[in-house]
Amino acid sequence: MPSYAASPFPAPLLNETIGANLERNASRFPDADALIDVPTGRSWTYAEFNRDVDDLAAGLLARGVRAGDRVGIWSPNCAEWTLLQYATAKAGAVLVNVNPAYRQSELDFVVNQSGMRMLFTAPGDPRNDYEVMARNAQQQADLLDVVYLAGAGTDGLAALAADGRRAAAGTPDGGGPVAERMATLQPGDPINIQYTSGTTGFPKGATLTHSNILNNGYFIGELLGYTEKDRVVLPVPFYHCFGMVIGNLAALSHGAATIIPSRTFDAAAALEAVQSRQATSLYGVPTMFIAELGLEDFDRYDLSSLRTGVMAGSPCPEEIMKRVIRDMNMAEVAICYGMTETSPVSTMTRRGDSLERRTRTVGRTMPHLENQVVDPGTGRPVPFGEIGELCTRGYSVMAGYWNEPEKTAEAVDSEGWMHTGDLARMDEEGYVSIEGRIKDMVIRGGENIYPREIEEFLYSHPSISDVQVIGIPDERYGEELMACIIAVPGAPEPDAASIAEFCRGKLAHYKIPRYVQVRSSFPMTVSGKIRKVQMREEVVEQLVPATELPAPPAGKSVF
Ligand code: AMP
Repeated sequence: MPSYAASPFPAPLLNETIGANLERNASRFPDADALIDVPTGRSWTYAEFNRDVDDLAAGLLARGVRAGDRVGIWSPNCAEWTLLQYATAKAGAVLVNVNPAYRQSELDFVVNQSGMRMLFTAPGDPRNDYEVMARNAQQQADLLDVVYLAGAGTDGLAALAADGRRAAAGTPDGGGPVAERMATLQPGDPINIQYTSGTTGFPKGATLTHSNILNNGYFIGELLGYTEKDRVVLPVPFYHCFGMVIGNLAALSHGAATIIPSRTFDAAAALEAVQSRQATSLYGVPTMFIAELGLEDFDRYDLSSLRTGVMAGSPCPEEIMKRVIRDMNMAEVAICYGMTETSPVSTMTRRGDSLERRTRTVGRTMPHLENQVVDPGTGRPVPFGEIGELCTRGYSVMAGYWNEPEKTAEAVDSEGWMHTGDLARMDEEGYVSIEGRIKDMVIRGGENIYPREIEEFLYSHPSISDVQVIGIPDERYGEELMACIIAVPGAPEPDAASIAEFCRGKLAHYKIPRYVQVRSSFPMTVSGKIRKVQMREEVVEQLVPATELPAPPAGKSVF
């Protein structure tokens, strides 16, 4: 049976804009908390939140922002981020998320690439001189307007809201310039550009519509069982879809409260916010949960109000998942898998899933989406249980990369499948496990080899502390396998012959590494991902010595 799963769901897709969805919830739950900003002690009910969003949206219109104009925000998490997310959506402006870690050249790139006309940024951040960099970008690019969020004696946002109030004064309730603008917007209009990091080349701007991100957030909230009683602590960044979609849109489309515990991640602040605000849900990447569980005074926090949460971004170690469920009271915690280009979530675990499924898999297909696993060579679905590239189709697939139709066509095929670049396996019940990145796949003599499988086997070798398997150029086979090993201190140093001996009879012959390199460390990116590309380059330049098995008959390798 081919690896394919669709996921029908009783609740239909939402066919409305983000602004319309907020207005619906503001009239259903006017007095419920919408937004709580712990660092400043401010909070908004749904009615207050919707009113402030309206003022800001009117301010954007008063400053000449047209539907489709790009408006950036470059700031760590704060309440203004959420307000602007909704205000830009009501104004029909395309919100451009700018990574708060960006420096001048990266800022200039996204300002120019997106054709940004207005940028909101936070002045006076002690670690970042946003103000100077924003002003430089204004001189170098066609950026018309920089608006500073509150701080350092300026409050450009308050001035913008005041402009908005003046412009809307005297118009009837439910009328006025914002209502007029909203009436022209469609759910399929682009509303957000998120630049994907990518390990090579310039970032690409994944362009997402109201329908993309509102529906993704809404169905995440449905699967988590969110209602107006839920209170969600968000230590994850808003510039990434984890914060603004899995967080803000999932909660605010259900009348739940969003809680900002700190500007940037702070383990103690996250737990403090759970305790003091009686939160029911907590989010994080696995390393955030590890940091929280590792706090010296972890036992001091009362986490009994928690019920659920989301863990996403990378695989969760089983031991951590057990502790999150047991020690943090998060019995219903879900694993989400996805990527920016799919709004982001494509698969998710369900509330009743076993511990095994919540650690060994990333769940199954999200409502109203399709997933399939295909052979990267032929593009045809592989049978259940076999590895291939995970592809996703449906409402969540981005409108495209901003102004890059060729790159869009490389990622989304003519049938609408987004090729994720992730290697995955799907079982007969539709549960998916992630098995590595396709870029790391090695093709040796026409045979697809998945390094992760070999790495996992080699971890059982007593002399190996860490291992990465890469493909290196080879005249005969196209590529040959190399195992790069960090040896256990004091253990006998492995070489190609001893590793081959260890693998014989347990791995197919073509999966046995031809070369073995022993190294003291692996090259890493700033975010802690291992740079296999650099390792390959180092091998070709022979920067690190390697041992080699005897060449196969008539074989000729690069060494
Ligand atoms: P981004 O577009 O920055 O959200 O990164 C998306 C990538 O993160 C995916 O293509 C996966 O490689 C990885 N990823 C996301 N969620 C998970 C998960 N739950 N488990 C393993 N890898 C994940």
